[in-house]
Amino acid sequence: MLAGPPPSFNAGPPTQPMQQQAHPPSQMYPNQFQQPTLPPNFQGNQHQPPALPPNFQGNQQAPPAGPPTYPNMQQQQYQQQPTLPPPSSVGNQPQFPPQSHYPPDNQQLPPPTHFPLQPPAPGNQPQYPSQPPMMSNGINQPSMPQTYPNQGPPLPPPSSSSVAATSNSLRPAPITPNQFGPPPTMGVPQFPSQPSFPNQPPSNLAGMPQYPGTQPPFSGPPSTFPSANQPPPPTGYPQQQLPPQYGSQSHLSGPSTVPGSQLNGPGTYPGQMPPAPVQQQQQQQQPYQPQRIDPDMVPNVVQVLEQSQEKIQQPFITNAPGLLPPLVATDFVCQDQGSCNPRFIRSTTYTIPNAHDMIKQSHIPIALAISPLANLRPDELGPPVTNFGEIGPVRCHRCKAYMCSFMQFIDGGKRFLCCFCEAATDVPTEYFNHLDHSGRRMDWYQRPELCLGTYEIVATKQYCKDEKWPEPPAFIFMIDVSYNSVRSGLVEYICHILKTDLLDYLPKDQGAETSNVRVGFATFDKQIHFYNIKNTLGQPQMMIVSDLEDIFVPLLDGFLCLPQDSRGVINSLLEQIPQTFANTQETETILAPVIQAGIQALKGANCTGKIYLFSTTLPIAVAPGKLSNRDDKKLLGSDKEKTLLAPINNVYTKLGEECAQNGCAVDLFVFPNNYLDLATIGEVCRVSGGQIYKFNYFSIENDGERLHDELKRNFQRTTVFDALMRVRTSAGIRPIDFLGNFYMTNATEMIFGTIDSDKSVSVELKHDDKLPVESNTYIQAALLYTSISGQRRLRILTLALTVTSAYTSLYPACDLDTIMNYITKVAIRSVTMSTPKSIRDNIITQAANMLACYRKNCAQATTAGQLILPETLKLLPVYVTALIKCDALTGTQTVSTDDRSLLMQRVMSMDIKGTFAYLYPRIYALHDLDENNLPPPMIRCLYERLSESGAYVIENGLVMYIWLGSQVNPTFVQSLFGVQTGHIQPEKCRIVDLDNPISRNVRTLLNMIRNERNAHMKLFVIQQRDSIEPFFKNYLVEDKGFTGGASYVDFLYHLHREIRNILQ
Ligand SMILES: [Zn+2]
Repeated sequence: MLAGPPPSFNAGPPTQPMQQQAHPPSQMYPNQFQQPTLPPNFQGNQHQPPALPPNFQGNQQAPPAGPPTYPNMQQQQYQQQPTLPPPSSVGNQPQFPPQSHYPPDNQQLPPPTHFPLQPPAPGNQPQYPSQPPMMSNGINQPSMPQTYPNQGPPLPPPSSSSVAATSNSLRPAPITPNQFGPPPTMGVPQFPSQPSFPNQPPSNLAGMPQYPGTQPPFSGPPSTFPSANQPPPPTGYPQQQLPPQYGSQSHLSGPSTVPGSQLNGPGTYPGQMPPAPVQQQQQQQQPYQPQRIDPDMVPNVVQVLEQSQEKIQQPFITNAPGLLPPLVATDFVCQDQGSCNPRFIRSTTYTIPNAHDMIKQSHIPIALAISPLANLRPDELGPPVTNFGEIGPVRCHRCKAYMCSFMQFIDGGKRFLCCFCEAATDVPTEYFNHLDHSGRRMDWYQRPELCLGTYEIVATKQYCKDEKWPEPPAFIFMIDVSYNSVRSGLVEYICHILKTDLLDYLPKDQGAETSNVRVGFATFDKQIHFYNIKNTLGQPQMMIVSDLEDIFVPLLDGFLCLPQDSRGVINSLLEQIPQTFANTQETETILAPVIQAGIQALKGANCTGKIYLFSTTLPIAVAPGKLSNRDDKKLLGSDKEKTLLAPINNVYTKLGEECAQNGCAVDLFVFPNNYLDLATIGEVCRVSGGQIYKFNYFSIENDGERLHDELKRNFQRTTVFDALMRVRTSAGIRPIDFLGNFYMTNATEMIFGTIDSDKSVSVELKHDDKLPVESNTYIQAALLYTSISGQRRLRILTLALTVTSAYTSLYPACDLDTIMNYITKVAIRSVTMSTPKSIRDNIITQAANMLACYRKNCAQATTAGQLILPETLKLLPVYVTALIKCDALTGTQTVSTDDRSLLMQRVMSMDIKGTFAYLYPRIYALHDLDENNLPPPMIRCLYERLSESGAYVIENGLVMYIWLGSQVNPTFVQSLFGVQTGHIQPEKCRIVDLDNPISRNVRTLLNMIRNERNAHMKLFVIQQRDSIEPFFKNYLVEDKGFTGGASYVDFLYHLHREIRNILQ
């Protein structure tokens, strides 16, 4: 469960009182939070021995008298460490000399696509009628007919569409909805200067506004329920209602009230002073007429996405530098014509500021989000594989950049000029080709490296460890067979699904007939049991290692085998393991030695691979990596939470490093009934490039399908091994900061034991020097890896950006999706170093500065009372408000310590689509699905948008809820779940495979969501006004969060005030 509702470790209802909860908590499930699937004897406290068998003799510190005897298997006890082959050297990675900095290069490339702004004459606001999507492209940039329509040619006059904010009558100028039309505006009333928001010094808090609380966040049913059959809200600003009308100016000038905020109840901001009692607030509120900001008046995600999608009429073609790609959540096709597909690399801005000062002023981070193995659409071109033969990859002799479409051939094709460092490199004889009349090589279109932004190269031996071709990777399954694991049915279930299904889904290279991934099996409790599955054996052999201090693998021959060769023995083993340990009484487990053994086994076989580790308890047995329960939920959300969320020691971090250096990773599947210290043991996954999967209180009935599906997805996604990534950039700018789950031994190279198609890293760039304006700057990410079939390859991704010295060019080139991905990761990384309040304050300050700089430099001709949002950043406030109250960051006690650690690690490896979904969950109505129109339109994350008679699904990529309105048609429930409304159980309820249109459509939709997220996601089914409904409501990010975060509308006021303070 990921940040889902509390049933896991939370023993109580939400901490926030639900003042106007109309219904008592569901009487059906009074024990919703009470250990739903505990084994009967579970004590609920990690310090106490869980559910011990009758003859248990107390806390077993001493090792058992001897190894248990197991039926059915030949056993050998190993105590002596055999001589192992020396560890393979890890020092032979290809050498990447440090990047040098050379004078910038003036390439003969297409001109940069930025357009100077012409500010309108003051007071003369141009009218922007509604325009067809192609307007900007077709009319203003005829010279670039192939330019993607969403790419932002002619920039609007920046201040033109601001809304005049007068006290009583606010009427917007007609505003185009076009993304590249005029900057959007938010008409917000003129405020007196109120120094009162969260990121201000405490001294100012005395004057903070009180938010009148007429409508607490968990009030009863919303006052209006838009029919689910209503057409979607108007899609353009021009059709919208007037901006909010506020009471007279005098009403607004009081020092302590913010109009509009009364929607959201006592609005303490995270980290702020607690709200005044409601009565007091109501008294203060009396002088003011409750006014309501129409949520349709503020920029909203659903509308922006719909409008963007409408404008996508043709493929996004990457044929010029600095092209802003479509929003990440839109459905578009990319044609690679020189720069790589944005699914591989996106930049926070496609026009880089020419000097650091612009970044300092604008606070816009210059960063890249790189997903080097991202899945493409079926109709997009995957990276072609090229082979340079014995000469190996063609590279710049100075900076070692790889050949790409932006290298310029000179001297009749005998040399090429590097687009990164401007050095000239001789073309190897084998690679020579003549140039045509325009200076292009004659084989330009035949060679992917010359015409595409993404291609792969078959590596030569110089790119392999020890100059030896790698072996195909191996998968090792290491299964906890202690009491908890056996008792819950987990051991039997894992063995069952491996035997009957999963081993048939082992990954293979494209075009390959069979997988050549070898597999190995081990089990563990306080000892490790290895299994010989050699095909010449009639039965598997078990070998026990109990010397945990200096771990070794007792068999090298027969441990890792191809399933197709040893299937009989493997099947026999998977049948015998559950029987062998069926009566185990061992409750204590080890973990670090198990991982160590997995690494040793892969090293011994001289191959890369993956360790699938299934663990149920905190490793408290005496052994290296022993941990104790240090959970203290009270610390969560406090300034001391960082100690709880940081690893207690570096044992598991070191193991992760060892994994990464040996080309393997640990995927940790945990099935806890209590605290596991994921902050510590999760380090092995973080550093190696692995992943954590968590199943609280595992039961086959509730979680079996999800475990099966997640394992299958894990096997099937594109995964590469022993990978190394380096990012090169044009002279004048360079990578300085790297975020994600990987290991680094120097300042430039990211090392991944494994990396897969779901993982992304962020790289921040910094200026060393001024970049020449009107030039381009280039980015190249090179990933060296071993494929699933054991082939050593390089994947080269190149991206061209433009450079500017004008803010009016910078802002329209921003990609908010990437900015939020980066800001989110920076914030999450800070959790173990800073305090929650200062992290949130920093985020708000950064957002306010980004908008203030725009206001100052691009929209001066507007009055001070307006909130002006640049078109590309108009969703910044809603994303920031979601970020500062998201589960991974806010650290309240509603999320368990381990779930918090899990969330933090997940977010750090998320791609942009992932962070978008995490910050702004998707909601779809389920009660009126049309099989010809799936998915249905998205619904905004506002409680008032949900109909009492409707049913909805909400998902954020990590967890999924189905919400049933209190008046939902009983037939709908029966058709979907096969039970009556009164029998819905949040965690146990499953969508049954029934043959009716409702069931078919809902299952189709949920599968679409799961496939898009490539995750099964835990599903909770809740009914309106259930006791756990607040946890569902917490995902409605435009509303006030139930742990204290402001609503979106409130936050706009906060932000506006911050901006005004900055400008003053
Ligand atoms: Zn170079």
